[in-house]
Amino acid sequence: MRRAVCPGSFDPITNGHLDIVARASRLYDVVHIAVMINKSKQGLFTVDERIALIEESVKDYGNVQVEAFHGLLVDYCKQRDIPAIVKGLRAVSDFDYELQMAQMNNGLSGVETLFIPTNPAYSFLSSSLVKEVAAWGGDISHLVPEVVLRELRQRLARP
Ligand code: ADP
Repeated sequence: MRRAVCPGSFDPITNGHLDIVARASRLYDVVHIAVMINKSKQGLFTVDERIALIEESVKDYGNVQVEAFHGLLVDYCKQRDIPAIVKGLRAVSDFDYELQMAQMNNGLSGVETLFIPTNPAYSFLSSSLVKEVAAWGGDISHLVPEVVLRELRQRLARP
């Protein structure tokens, strides 16, 4: 079984994430989505909520598994026998940091990182931008899965 992992914070999942996961799911037998827990970063959604939103968004793919992880990504990979990390590259600005991470992870454990160029329709898209635009009432319906749109609208409507 060829396995890969798409890691991130997914607070919340966007169509940019989903595009990368969909493309990875056509290349690998099983794709793991690892929701990395960062205790120093308070998100809009709890980790369990993020997992539920992702599960609903990927339910038709058939070969995608979602779970939370606290720790080093290379340990996650080692524990599950995953040889490849798949990441989306949005712009040159992503590159410096992603290259460092990829080289560090490869040096730590031999795990490879594969970069998929983002769909140009999503190259400006990030979870934080989606939250900001949604908070000011902007239309994000083309940028996030239906379930995320519903949840964001509900949350932002609360007093
Ligand atoms: P960020 O990296 O913006 O803090 P995440 O940690 O949730 O957000 O993202 C995890 C990974 O998902 C990123 O490192 C990147 O590989 C991919 N990703 C996020 N947004 C996009 C996008 N719009 N297009 C392609 N890939 C993306």
